[in-house]
Amino acid sequence: MVLTIRTYGDPVLKQPTKDVEEIDGRLARLVEGMVETMHEAPGVGLAANQVGVRRRLFVYDIGDGPQVVINPRITETSGEWAFEEGCLSVPGLSWTIVRPNKVHLSGLDLDGNELSIDAEEYEARVLQHEVDHLDGTLLIERLDEEQRREALKVLRARVLAG
Ligand code: ZN
Repeated sequence: MVLTIRTYGDPVLKQPTKDVEEIDGRLARLVEGMVETMHEAPGVGLAANQVGVRRRLFVYDIGDGPQVVINPRITETSGEWAFEEGCLSVPGLSWTIVRPNKVHLSGLDLDGNELSIDAEEYEARVLQHEVDHLDGTLLIERLDEEQRREALKVLRARVLAG
């Protein structure tokens, strides 16, 4: 089932999510819906709160098939990389954002097994973007001051236009 993607201005995007305590059939169905929604959009990543669910998990697919990470935590970062980044919750806009180039991410898969992911460049970018979502942080908050001022002007006008 394709779910509705929440967009800028929806308070659920600013609220930190809670750890998943039980991996059950309900969660598996949510993941299935999130993967379908991400592919349909199309996007390369989708966090649970982007579909209105305040649970700490995201799905992503950078071309190697869909992956899910439950209770993800970034435990190490290094380097710097500037890359043009967009977001399904902020449609039609993108900005060059500097973030760490490499990350180590830990979490669980849908069977409850420990995941330990070393990623760099594009994959690392996607993982950081999705973990940000789960912490209630949108990419707007990663912009420099000037980019941010311009972005907020556009976005506030959009929200007012309804
Ligand atoms: Zn996003």
